[in-house]
This record gives sequence, structure tokens and C-alpha cells, in this order.
Amino acid sequence: MSELEQKIQDARRLIAGELAKPGGACITSSFQAECVVLVHLLKEQRPDMPVLFLETGYHFAETLDYRDRMTRDWNLNLVNLEAKRSVKEQEALFGILNQTEPSKCCGLRKVEPLFAGLANYDTWFTALRREQSPTRANLQPVEAFKLPAGKTLEKVSPLAMWTNKDVWQYLSRCNIPALPLYDQGYTSIGCQPCTALPFDPANLRSGRWQGKEKLECGIHIQAE
Ligand code: SF4
Repeated sequence: MSELEQKIQDARRLIAGELAKPGGACITSSFQAECVVLVHLLKEQRPDMPVLFLETGYHFAETLDYRDRMTRDWNLNLVNLEAKRSVKEQEALFGILNQTEPSKCCGLRKVEPLFAGLANYDTWFTALRREQSPTRANLQPVEAFKLPAGKTLEKVSPLAMWTNKDVWQYLSRCNIPALPLYDQGYTSIGCQPCTALPFDPANLRSGRWQGKEKLECGIHIQAE
């Protein structure tokens, strides 16, 4: 058995074990390559799994088109999570926070809506991988995650040990189309104002929040 086949089997086994537990499960997906791999693996076992997408209002048009296409083609149970204020309202109130205070912007448009959405579930599947960032180097496939409101979820990352090469090999062997922005050289894709082409080819996330010493949007940082 190849290394990738072993990883696929391990991921399937972990998913099956988690889905056998009581309580509701969801996945968060930004529709990047690894997210799509995980949605594909999950929908084999739970076709109606809620797929939570953070609709920040700042995404690339290509991301939204791709999200809608995959949702239609795979009949996904897509749940868009939105901030309390529209982009227009936020910018009228605070200016363009992604230029001045990106952590506040992420807090309002990603962290708050996500944590409110997650409160409805007990198990949270993510496509995080250790290799993606120094902040993810010690990621465990199953971790407890406490929401600020007090509820503790099981955070499950079946692709924790996968490499970028594994992700792309999986997409290729399953004939799954990737978000077209990868063809333009992007290697990690989030909101448009905070995503650039990578400046360090060895660091796939080096195009995110360039120059702002920010590595994470905050959604994967444990509440204190
Ligand atoms: S990634 Fe950028 S635009 Fe998106 S919520 Fe965070 S700061 Fe705002």
C-alpha cells in the first residue's frame, strides 16, 4: 500500500470513529485544496454533513464561483456564516480594518460568526495540516476546543499528517477540480485583500497577511 493510500485509510477510519459518536458534526471549508479533499472524504460517509463557509464579504469572485459550483455538483449542505454587519456597514463604522487592524477585521468577520455557528455542533472537522504553518506544527488529529461561551467541541483534523503533495495527488486521482486561483500562482487563499502570491516558495502561506506579522485569522486559536 502506498503512503497516500495508508493516509486515506487512516483518515477514513478516524472519520468513521468520530461520526459514530453521539452529537452533531460539521466541517469548516474555505474551499482550498485540502478543504475540498476533506469534504470529499466526509461526504462518502455523511453526504449531508453541514459545510460551514465563512462568508466574510471579502472573498475573491473566483472563490465564490467555485464554492457554488462544488456545492451544486456535490449537492453539499452549505451553510454560509456571516458577520453581524455587512462590509459596507463595517467600513462606514471603522474604515478598512483589513488595512489598519486585520485582527479586529478577522475577529468580526471570521471568529465571531464561526464560534456562533460552531455552538450548534459537538464535532468540528477541519482540513488543517501540520505542514502549513509553524503555528500548526503540533496539531493533533483530535483535540478539545473550548468556545468562548464555554462549550467544548472535539476538533478533528484527519489530514493533520498530510503533505501538500498528498493533497494534490488525491485531487488528481479523484479527478476533482481545484479552485482556479491556484493556476494563477496562489498557494494559500483567503480573503482577497489579505491574499497575495507567495513571496517564499517554501512557505505556501507566505502570501497571507503580507507584512502584518499575522499567521492565523484566529479561528484556530483556542479561546482563553
Ligand atoms: S482575512 Fe482580511 S479581509 Fe478577511 S476577515 Fe481577515 S482581515 Fe478581514
